[in-house]
Amino acid sequence: MDYKFIFEGKEYILGEENLEYFANDENKPLEGIDYKKVLEILNKSDEVDFQKAYYENCCSKCRWGKEEKKKVFDFLEFYFYVYGKNNKYITSSIDGEYDKKSFTRLNREGIVDKSYLLTIIVCRKCGTYSIEIEEFEV
Ligand SMILES: [Zn+2]
Repeated sequence: MDYKFIFEGKEYILGEENLEYFANDENKPLEGIDYKKVLEILNKSDEVDFQKAYYENCCSKCRWGKEEKKKVFDFLEFYFYVYGKNNKYITSSIDGEYDKKSFTRLNREGIVDKSYLLTIIVCRKCGTYSIEIEEFEV
């Protein structure tokens, strides 16, 4: 299922076709999560809030701003945390499943044992997006 949102009057649709890449943690990839799962998490949550972000590299697809020789390029970004146990995805920080308990709490209760930062970056011009998951030491 696609995820749709509107930012400053422009609609963005995150789906299969405009996904540039899904990068899981290099050392300890979290299992049981892919872009489809991420879109599902976004659809189920009411806490998704994309913000403006600027990167030094332009969008690899449309290269918006490259001709104008901009120094930074416009993107939208949203990040949240995903939690796993034994390297398998369990829940996230924007998920209501465990009553929004903190990682520390869930960890203490033995429900999860590892925390990852998940970042979604969307090109403001063409809507191409990428997802990155990195282990996050609490
Ligand atoms: Zn683009």
